[in-house]
Amino acid sequence: MYDGVKVVLNLDELPTQWYNVLADLPAPLPPPLHPVTKEPCGPPDLMPLFPVALLQQEMSPERYIPIPEELQEAYRRLGRPSPLYRAKRLEEYLDTPAKIYYKREDLSPTGSHKPNTAIAQAYFAMKEGVEQITTETGAGQWGSALSLACALFDIKCRVYMVGVSYDQKPYRRVLMQTYGSEVFRSPSNNTEVGRSVLKENPDHPGSLGLAISEAVEDALNDDKIKYSLGSVLNHVLLHQTIVGQEVKKQFEEIGEYPDMMLGCVGGGSNFAGFFYPFVPDKLKGKDIRFIAVEPKAVPTLTRAPYAYDYGDTGKLAPIVKMYTLGHEFVPPPIHSGGLRYHGDAPSLCLLQKEGILESVAYHQIETFEAGVIFAKTEGIVPAPETNHAIVAVIKEAQKCKKTGEEKVIAFNYSGHGHFDLKGYEEYLAGNLVDYEMPQEQIDKSLEILPKV
Ligand SMILES: *Cc1c(COP(=O)(O)O)cnc(C)c1O
Repeated sequence: MYDGVKVVLNLDELPTQWYNVLADLPAPLPPPLHPVTKEPCGPPDLMPLFPVALLQQEMSPERYIPIPEELQEAYRRLGRPSPLYRAKRLEEYLDTPAKIYYKREDLSPTGSHKPNTAIAQAYFAMKEGVEQITTETGAGQWGSALSLACALFDIKCRVYMVGVSYDQKPYRRVLMQTYGSEVFRSPSNNTEVGRSVLKENPDHPGSLGLAISEAVEDALNDDKIKYSLGSVLNHVLLHQTIVGQEVKKQFEEIGEYPDMMLGCVGGGSNFAGFFYPFVPDKLKGKDIRFIAVEPKAVPTLTRAPYAYDYGDTGKLAPIVKMYTLGHEFVPPPIHSGGLRYHGDAPSLCLLQKEGILESVAYHQIETFEAGVIFAKTEGIVPAPETNHAIVAVIKEAQKCKKTGEEKVIAFNYSGHGHFDLKGYEEYLAGNLVDYEMPQEQIDKSLEILPKV
């Protein structure tokens, strides 16, 4: 149903399978390597970390993977299918002939797309009798999504939260604790990795790579504990494709097709979930652009090399081929906690390498500027991560104004900013600063890439 503002799907139009882009990649995906032997690693190497069902999905060559009935019900509980909105007031404000659409992933109970994979991961863990899940969280979005999912499927949840975010975002911590999770400031004294880092630098601000190492260490030391990751891995991106499949139906319903699709990229999961279901069309020759948007402070897709690197600082996670700033990269303290990872999803990186995907980067202040315009016109306050997509959308819509082209622009509204008002407060007070990564710093962090 389309009322001129939003395209709404019926409950029975919820996708019943996930779309697996691995079946359609234009070149083979370089295999993940074992962090110690540096040989290709298969399911047995990863068994201590992940539930079997998720490992099967991770490696599956099948184009479509069915979503179990019980999980479809859980998706409906999260409010799926989510509406696709037309940004009419933003279009009017920009005075552009472009039509702008955005997918409302902020409407989930924790305010982002992340529960789409969290509930799938908790569901499969529950089926296999897992007692506890450990994970890391940056801004707290992933930790809250997994905490919600674990509460729904009755599993214990432990979250290592990146130090700076733990200090900056107390309410995300309280949200996780409300769902029953244990939350530790990372680096912590719980793990060997954490203790060794704290010994060297008791004031370490933490990083996503480090928090991952802590959570992985817990899972490696106890077979009742599994580890869970909120982005980057194939199965995570797979679960998110429920989003893009809905978008496809929504555009069919109104007889439109996007000329370009945009999304912000931290590890790549929200954007991949949004556009992967459209990749087969592009491979068949359809004229559509996919544009990834990242912070200039963490320029993985726009400035980093395509190379094998560890997924985490402690070198416990597999080595994967991606655009990487080096596993010891400690990002500047920008407010988009979710966009501070040193690498990106391998399949997304491959698509950029093959020319299917473009990428652009913006400074933090211009992203907040865009977010404020969006809040005033569309009435909802975006997450700082989402603001990256919005600034790029505004630039594209302004180009359309110059050329008079009525392009259809679609972006993934990955989350709301209700827990990020500190960032808005600093922006409004004029206290935000921009960070441009100096080339020497990039070069330096790349000296330690593994030799494979
Ligand atoms: C975590 C997060 C992101 C970035 O993660 P991806 O895996 O790249 O999607 C983007 N937006 C929001 C709102 C997030 O919470």
